[in-house]
Amino acid sequence: MKDILIVGGGIGGLTLALFLHKAGIPCRVYECVNTIKPIGMGINLLPYATEKLAQLGILDKLRAVSIETRESVFCNRFGQTIFSRPAGRLAGNKYPQLSIHRGELHNVLLSEVYKCIGAERVYMGWNCTNVLQFENYVTAKFTDPQGKLYPDQQGSLLIGCDGVNSAVRKLLYPDEGAPLYRGINMWRGVSQWVPFFSGASMVRIGLPNSGKLVIYPIKDNIGENGTQLINWVIEIETANYSAQDWNQSGHVLDFINYFSDWKFDWLDVPEILKAHRGKILKYPMMDRDPVSKWSFGMISLLGDAAHPMVPLGSNGAGQAILDASFLQQCIIKYGHSNLALKKYEDTRLLQTARITKIDRSMAQDRLLHEVYSRTNDSRILSIDSILSKDELIKLSEPTYNYIEAS
Ligand SMILES: Cc1cc2nc3c(=O)[nH]c(=O)nc-3n(C[C@H](O)[C@H](O)[C@H](O)COP(=O)(O)OP(=O)(O)OC[C@H]3O[C@@H](n4cnc5c(N)ncnc54)[C@H](O)[C@@H]3O)c2cc1C
Repeated sequence: MKDILIVGGGIGGLTLALFLHKAGIPCRVYECVNTIKPIGMGINLLPYATEKLAQLGILDKLRAVSIETRESVFCNRFGQTIFSRPAGRLAGNKYPQLSIHRGELHNVLLSEVYKCIGAERVYMGWNCTNVLQFENYVTAKFTDPQGKLYPDQQGSLLIGCDGVNSAVRKLLYPDEGAPLYRGINMWRGVSQWVPFFSGASMVRIGLPNSGKLVIYPIKDNIGENGTQLINWVIEIETANYSAQDWNQSGHVLDFINYFSDWKFDWLDVPEILKAHRGKILKYPMMDRDPVSKWSFGMISLLGDAAHPMVPLGSNGAGQAILDASFLQQCIIKYGHSNLALKKYEDTRLLQTARITKIDRSMAQDRLLHEVYSRTNDSRILSIDSILSKDELIKLSEPTYNYIEAS
């Protein structure tokens, strides 16, 4: 039996390799970069994703390099707490919500792939440039970083897990236009700082029209005095944007003016932003309209290559992980076949299309929007006179739960 070819050794590709291995299905992973570097910043793995990672036996390894999120806190731009909602296991889920540096997640997955599948099945520096289908196999073409052609690779199926600028998707949709800019630019960074709130709180402050900050710790005890590695993401409505590249640099001067008076009794925002460690990354909020098809014969798409969504609802990595788990189930049931890829698409395309649309609607900002309009963007004396407990609970619902319930 021929191996399944996985193009892209990011979060989705490596998770798929582990799920296939668990089912005894042989695969090979092809990643275009030579070395995996801890690029990117913090991400959140919601309980639906940690459940799948637990099935792969790597939950304890992830816990060791992340923070188990305890609560989701909503604040207005004056730093006043509107509502705190329990998260992860404290919200009654069996599995935790983890706040983690993407590089740490990537490292855990890669070491597990090396350990279980073997380094000889992970091809680093192999850039996929073309895929051809024959009667019962696929052939993929790759170049090295200098553009020199590698020998053709054959497999039973090929899964494009090559991210937001997917080359495999481009082969399947050659005329697809550019991704759609959603009017908001984002900057990400990390700072070393003392814990705030519970020490495991994901906090959303303000709205993108006048500057929004999402801030949460991703690693404990990184220095003296119990300091943590704190991840922060700035969102600002801007007319202009630059390329959709996860490695693009930004500067604190790009956004600091929006936050100069955000000196709260629990956090000095300008100071923590100025204290960033290393690069600030700039990334425009973009996505694509869902397509009607991911599977074309023996080729399919997974993760951001299949359903690029705005990075707002903590669903990007999580949905790639769900794709990988579901695809494994389809291959177990229907074999290395076009039918397996079709069954995978039938279920996962609809689910992820709904999430793409709901995250695009900025649903996770509903509570802060409501407070903004009911208070006319002013300080509050007491939240009780503005919103009832039921309204607070409903409006702060994580978008994923909200999708499930709707
Ligand atoms: C460097 C980087 C930093 C990121 N930082 C963040 C972040 O800070 N916060 C956040 O929310 N999300 C971030 N993301 C996106 C997040 O990881 C994804 O949304 C999510 O994990 C979905 O995973 P994926 O496997 O579909 O895509 P990704 O994790 O993006 O993986 C795609 C992989 O495919 C490889 N690839 C691309 N083209 C080819 C090709 N032609 N041939 C072979 N390999 C190819 C890429 O190098 C990459 O390793 C980042 C992605 C990358 C690549």
